[in-house]
Amino acid sequence: MIIEIITLFPESVCPMVNESILARAQRFGIVEFDIIQLRDYAEDKHNTVDDKPFGGGPGMVLKADVVARALDDLRTKRPELEPFVIFTSPQGDTFTQEIAEELSEFERITILCGHYKGVDQRVLDEYVDREISIGDYVLTGGEIPALAISDAIVRLVPGVLGDPESAAGDSFTRGLLDHPHYTQPASWNGVEVPDVLVSGHHANIEQWRSEQAIERTRKRRPDLYEKWLKKKQST
Ligand code: SAM
Repeated sequence: MIIEIITLFPESVCPMVNESILARAQRFGIVEFDIIQLRDYAEDKHNTVDDKPFGGGPGMVLKADVVARALDDLRTKRPELEPFVIFTSPQGDTFTQEIAEELSEFERITILCGHYKGVDQRVLDEYVDREISIGDYVLTGGEIPALAISDAIVRLVPGVLGDPESAAGDSFTRGLLDHPHYTQPASWNGVEVPDVLVSGHHANIEQWRSEQAIERTRKRRPDLYEKWLKKKQST
């Protein structure tokens, strides 16, 4: 999988993709990150990437021609693989585990990070396949959303996580939140881990974890719980 991130701030993106599991995925050759400086596609002597909005008002807007040049250049570099182009936007579809699963099937994803007031609508209309929001709040730029989206996708690509079963038990994957986790020491601060977890009885442990996941979901996310229950009852 190739993930290209177009940004005005590569320095804020690079450290994250070069650490931990994302770095390991690159070392194993499963994922390739290409972090592109949008400013490299400016053509005037001041390297201008933005301009004042037509109609007036505060803030600056990223220019259509600059963004288009960046996207066209990426297409030319790898003509054999059509990218799925994402624009990070608070107005997009709210990112979920389900969307992460869909996106993990693509071989090439290009993520465009907005900044300032956003990006000229014409280039978005022309090039973007999907706008994705990471929640109902406004950030200064698309770098954190691009990293959140990339991270959630990459860990689903086969071979990235050491244990492929690991992601299957995580929150949202089965429509439920995850169960609680405990590790050594068995007694900490006067609190013991639940007996069942040290019983060695695998069926009972699975049963306990499943009950905990259901109960947590019911209490913390009644919306998810209702959805899970309906699905369970219909199967
Ligand atoms: N004027 C835009 C609006 O109200 O929809 C917000 C612009 S925001 C200050 C600058 C950039 O940050 C956006 O173009 C987008 O790329 C990114 N961004 C901000 N909040 C985001 C969110 N919740 N999800 C995804 N991207 C976001």
